[in-house]
Amino acid sequence: MTIISRAAWGAKPWDNDPASKGPATVPLAERTEWFVHYDGATPITRTGYAIPRAIEAQHLSQGWASVGYNFVVDQAGNAYEGRGWSRQGAHCPGHNVSGLSVQIAIGGDQEPTAAALATARALYDEACQRTGRTLAKRGHRDGIATLCPGSRLYAWVQAGMPAQGYTPAPDPGGAIPGGAGAEVARYQTTINGLAYGYGATGAHVTAVGEALVRKGFGAHYAVGPGPVWTDADTLCYAAFQRSLGYSGADADGVPGEASLRALLGSLPSATAKATAPPFPGRRHFQPGQSNAYVTQLGQRLVQKGYGRHYTVGPGPKWAESDRRNVEAFQRAQGWSGADADGYPGPETWRRLFT
Ligand SMILES: [Zn+2]
Repeated sequence: MTIISRAAWGAKPWDNDPASKGPATVPLAERTEWFVHYDGATPITRTGYAIPRAIEAQHLSQGWASVGYNFVVDQAGNAYEGRGWSRQGAHCPGHNVSGLSVQIAIGGDQEPTAAALATARALYDEACQRTGRTLAKRGHRDGIATLCPGSRLYAWVQAGMPAQGYTPAPDPGGAIPGGAGAEVARYQTTINGLAYGYGATGAHVTAVGEALVRKGFGAHYAVGPGPVWTDADTLCYAAFQRSLGYSGADADGVPGEASLRALLGSLPSATAKATAPPFPGRRHFQPGQSNAYVTQLGQRLVQKGYGRHYTVGPGPKWAESDRRNVEAFQRAQGWSGADADGYPGPETWRRLFT
């Protein structure tokens, strides 16, 4: 199989520094597992060299040596060298030595192409050949509390990463007992009546992010910490947990009481809970709109138990599933007619977030 080398796709020097020797090398004998990742919440339409270059830019800005994945595969089925076969990755804390990794460049509920899956599988087969063992097949979320690699790729990993003729389940969210709501709940915990972890919302989430930044664990925030708990919060929190000496499941990026106390000095309580965030305006919640408020709304609906129309986790693009979940919430308020049309106004927003 052909892997487009770092030189061929135009990688910058390691650490953006010609004198850098790059990440440490890892003997193949130490590799025991194989991780599959996706790009994140936003679908990706392009293919080609721009794919590894964009990841490189992002990872360099996070202070990493370069692309953190061992390989990247685009939707055309091209494979790009990241850390390659021999270097330590930066893709899943605690698994960067034992785990080789591939990022398939899709996002959100985007469907991976057969070409991308075939290439990713071929990389896995070659990895097994080179290491002389059957590497454990894992999705990123098996190593840390994250939605990565998304429902579709995770279903593919769990199906054994079939190379050919794989038909993604029409309802990948349904593959998880309880649906999307249960999926989000796996990555959350409640302490003193406040939710922490993926999808949690509120001023207390912002406070955690700001405290992480103050203590020097803000490397994963591309934008500042905010009121919606994202993968960046999880990664920063996991780094903080490791600094306390936790490892494995204890450093999964979901707060526990002890680490939260260590971070904040005391535990916030639900009685101090902030009021609803300001309503961003009706124009954000219309067909054709794609923005962070839609994600925030969707995650809050799931939290409140109104996520049953999501077949995959809520995302930034306004969809009929968003409208139907909002409508269910509005009907539960005893509203009808135009008040329950599925489009949120200020009162829907206020009730959702308080
Ligand atoms: Zn990942």
